[in-house]
Amino acid sequence: MKNIPMLDLKLEYDFMKKDIDSAIKKCLEHQKWILGPEVRELESNISEYLKVKHCIGVSSGTEALVLSLRALAIKLKGQEYFDRTDEIITTPFTFTATGDAILRSGATPLFIDIDPMTYNLDPNKIRSYLTDSSTHQLNSSSKVVGILPVHLYGQSCHMDEIMHIAKEHNLFVVEDVAQGFGGMWKGKKLGSIGNTGTLSFFPSKNLGGFGDGGMVSTNDDEIAELVRMLLRHGGKDKYNVDHIGYNARLDTLQGAIILAKFKYIDEFNEKRREIAKIYSGELSGIDDITLPVNKPSAHPPNDSTTEPPHHSTTPLPDGHVFHQYTTSVSNEKRDELQKYMKEKGISTMVYYPFPLHKMNVFGDGRSESYGSLENAEQATLSVLSLPIEPLQSMEETSYVIECIKSFFKT
Ligand SMILES: *Cc1c(COP(=O)(O)O)cnc(C)c1O
Repeated sequence: MKNIPMLDLKLEYDFMKKDIDSAIKKCLEHQKWILGPEVRELESNISEYLKVKHCIGVSSGTEALVLSLRALAIKLKGQEYFDRTDEIITTPFTFTATGDAILRSGATPLFIDIDPMTYNLDPNKIRSYLTDSSTHQLNSSSKVVGILPVHLYGQSCHMDEIMHIAKEHNLFVVEDVAQGFGGMWKGKKLGSIGNTGTLSFFPSKNLGGFGDGGMVSTNDDEIAELVRMLLRHGGKDKYNVDHIGYNARLDTLQGAIILAKFKYIDEFNEKRREIAKIYSGELSGIDDITLPVNKPSAHPPNDSTTEPPHHSTTPLPDGHVFHQYTTSVSNEKRDELQKYMKEKGISTMVYYPFPLHKMNVFGDGRSESYGSLENAEQATLSVLSLPIEPLQSMEETSYVIECIKSFFKT
């Protein structure tokens, strides 16, 4: 029987074995395990790649979010943490860490529904929350301070709209780029648009290490300096500290491995896009399965002056890096299809089975929600991600397609 995993990290290692082995060997020889030269080199290479002033290696994508938010609280409020009355707008359809980082920064996550076509935060709903005066009366002591958009599955949020709204309402923007490394919004790399961007080097991400790792990107000198302090206990001098800090450094060894793999990122993202193109071409005739769209928003706002009218019909230049190729299948059939694929030896995944606002951790008044979050709830019931290993063969991709077709009997 065939066995097609979502991702085949062993295959990728074999492909890059020489580079990775020699990078590790170099570390064994120099023995500079804490903030060694590879961490600096990676920071400088990724700064150049994203075209941002600063990149700061940290211990995970989650810590990159927490440190970004903590640094913003210190800079904007002059206090260690946000207040509970400070709300940060984010999506309920993301990995837990996005919302959890908001809680850990002292603020309250404010969940706003997604666009059902892109699965990303819907800027129109953010706008209507902010202008809805009745909402303000209900939560009169609360105040939105920032937006935390997630570029889910490797597809950019509508960043023109989000930055425009942020400017209008004096909000900060932290981009969660954990799934979007190398992705673009209108010629700009994701992570270079908001006040900070946060990257994850979790092994299964587009640029993954051999363990945990992450990075904060920013053009703001003060934020960069604060993040550098927070990741090493909270001070420039770790024996005499200023802030409530963490031990959240990026490991030298991870830095070296990620640096070796970084050489291949554009090639690998291109391979992901090629596989996605084949899936989309071959599966487009099946009515019961909805394929990913490569455009920022299905419903462009009428009142926007910044937007040319192109995006209702024509996809933008291809900035999607397909961390996942995520389809949507009508409710009862989703689980049936997943079971069928498993019998055929094909792994598929549901990212994510629970929306954040339904989790206990965000209960007990720890979060707020705006209106109905039905698109997010519906997505948890219908999404199904297909294998998208950059090195998977044409034969394997065809087999996945063949099995989906045979399930739907087309
Ligand atoms: C993976 C991920 C994170 C967390 O990254 P870690 O490196 O695992 O801590 C945060 N947000 C999103 C959207 C992710 O996919």
